[in-house]
Amino acid sequence: MKNRKPLIAGNWKMFKTCLEAVETARQLVKLIPDNTTVDVMIAPPFTSLMPVSDVMKGSCVSLGAQNLFWEPEGAYTGEISSGMLVSAGCKYVIIGHSERRQYFGETDVTVNKKIKAAIKDNLIPVVCVGESEKERESSHTFSVLDKQVAKGLENFVSSDLETLVIAYEPIWAIGTGKTATSKQAQAVHQYLRLLIEKKFGNNLANSVRILYGGSVKPDNIKELMLMPDVDGTLVGGASLNAETFSKIVNFQI
Ligand code: PEP
Repeated sequence: MKNRKPLIAGNWKMFKTCLEAVETARQLVKLIPDNTTVDVMIAPPFTSLMPVSDVMKGSCVSLGAQNLFWEPEGAYTGEISSGMLVSAGCKYVIIGHSERRQYFGETDVTVNKKIKAAIKDNLIPVVCVGESEKERESSHTFSVLDKQVAKGLENFVSSDLETLVIAYEPIWAIGTGKTATSKQAQAVHQYLRLLIEKKFGNNLANSVRILYGGSVKPDNIKELMLMPDVDGTLVGGASLNAETFSKIVNFQI
């Protein structure tokens, strides 16, 4: 029996204009019952945060951002701080998504700085880790995760990380239609929990939520959620449509 409240999170990436985002958020709020037993988060593009926040007020759907910069303010053209995200209504922020690591030079060091900034402003960090196809095939999955966790969470103590959410997102499963089997996901989630236990102790290991991400759909959510160490999912493509995403959120109904 899991004592962690599941989190089903949607990452809209660079999709949807403000109008489209508001419309999808409106539909979503109608499709998710108020008494849902899971936490739900949607991360629209920065431009839609405020209008989507207005739509979601009073609903059980929370707002997240897809990225942040670690400085509180300053001459950093194009960047957005944690305080700005809070002021736009965000409760969560995704950090270190593989697309940011791959296309925008994000490293474990920048991930570490971003986590620090997020928790300082009471944003819940959803920290993404995961291996590439080549790394999995060469049996390096666990060593890649060792490094991502060690460096990403360097210099924190367990009390800093009480709200931490980890998203295991094997890169080979993102947007490819290839899902890790529930057994593959469970094996990695169990390993990640063990890493957290070794580094931060039993309490944090038991409370940290570990999400799975990579081609999650309404037809594979139940099987994944049955795994003892899978505490929710981070959903990309299938979160863009309100009806599809609500089926994932309502997987128990
Ligand atoms: C993601 O981008 O975090 C993701 C998991 O994408 P998808 O669900 O489309 O594989």
